[in-house]
Order: sequence, then C-alpha cells, then structure tokens
Amino acid sequence: MKKLEQFRMLGLSENTLHALEKKGFEEPTPIQQKTIPLLLKGEVDIIGQAQTGTGKTAAFGLPILEGIQEKSKTVQALILVPTRELAIQVSEELNSLKGEKNLQIMPIYGGQSMEEQLRRLRKGIDVVVGTPGRILDHLRRKSLRLGNISYLVLDEADEMLNMGFIDDVEEIIKNTSAQKRMLLFSATMPEKIVHIAEKYMKNYEMVGVKKRAAYHKPDGSDLF
Ligand code: AMP
Repeated sequence: MKKLEQFRMLGLSENTLHALEKKGFEEPTPIQQKTIPLLLKGEVDIIGQAQTGTGKTAAFGLPILEGIQEKSKTVQALILVPTRELAIQVSEELNSLKGEKNLQIMPIYGGQSMEEQLRRLRKGIDVVVGTPGRILDHLRRKSLRLGNISYLVLDEADEMLNMGFIDDVEEIIKNTSAQKRMLLFSATMPEKIVHIAEKYMKNYEMVGVKKRAAYHKPDGSDLF
C-alpha cells in the first residue's frame, strides 16, 4: 500500500484505498490533492475550474462516497451532468470507487425507460447521477426527493448552460435541502455560472487546475 501513501495522507479510508489500488491509481492528480482534503474536513462549498481528464470525478466522488451512509433509504447525493454519456461514465466511475461500501449509485437520463427508473428509485438509491430534464421530471412526479441530500454537484456547469439546461438546474437546486454541500465544476466560468454560484453557494473556495497540469507519471511522462 506504500504506493498509495499520498492518497492516504489526504484522509481517505482503507476501504477507499483498496478501491484505488484495484483501479491502479497511484497518486492523486492536482485537482484531487486540492479538493479531497477540503471536502473531507471543512464545511466549505467548492467551485472547481477543471476539465474532463483532470481526474475531477474522483476529486468530488471520493469524499462524497466517504461522507454518505449505507442503507439510509434516501437519496444523499445528486450529481447533475449535461449528457447521458457523462451520466453513465460518472456513475460507473463512482461504482468502481466505492469499494466494499454498500451504496446504490444510479444514472438517470432521458430516453431511458421511465418504468425502470421508477422501480429502481422505489427500491432506494443513495447517489443519483442525472441529466437536468429527467431529474426535473422525477421531482415533479415526486418519484425523487432531494430534501435530505448532503451533496449537490453541478458537473460541467458551462456545458449545461450551453445546452440550455440552466433554468432546469436552478429549479432543481431550489428543491434540495438547505444544509447540503454544493460543488460546481466547470471548464470555463461564464457570468451566468458565477451568478448561480454566488446565489446558491455559501462559503465557497475556488480550486483551479489547467488541463495540462504539472502532473507526471514516475517515468516523467504526462498522465493527463
Ligand atoms: P475524469 O477527469 O474524472 O474524467 O478522469 C479521467 C480519467 O482519469 C478516468 O479514466 C479516471 O479513472 C482516471 N483517473 C482519475 N484520477 C486518477 C489518478 N489519480 N490516477 C490515475 N488515473 C486517474
């Protein structure tokens, strides 16, 4: 486990370290180094300026998976993403990072059978990774309740804005519990995104990394 020492020093549990070992991760990426301790310790919300490929999914995913309870019978975290592909990808990444923890993680997107989604939601889901339109559908049907969530993540917020989902996103935010931690990740920070952040996030910290971050594998080559 010596290889994973840097991950251990960020405050992650043995269960998570085992999951990371299985995935073959050796050291945290810059966004993970900055975000994980902040999320594990403080009470702050986070705005991360980071693109896909920087390891941002694990940056927010690992502390969220550590922070939520097994068998709570209520949705504890919602991750909003712009596309169905990303919903599936993020959900798969979280599943591979949860280790032995008994958590139900589900992607929810339009185009997928409503019946099947309703059936799974009734059985109890801990983490929902969804696209805004279908999440709003479920909120209106009351098949999804977000009044108890501990974490809300807006992933690729600028893409959700570009695709015209920002009003849906705002309506979803209004349906979430007041005491949640909110995280916003975006490659760019257009005014509308900054506005949402300022309106709904309390005490937030900005964390930024460039795509070609100074992150190298031990042999000196770039990983990202
Ligand atoms: P993301 O930016 O979250 O889309 O992640 C990009 C890819 O990098 C995914 O395939 C991750 O599984 C992988 N990845 C994330 N963090 C690390 C890490 N610390 N070491 C190696 N690979 C990683």
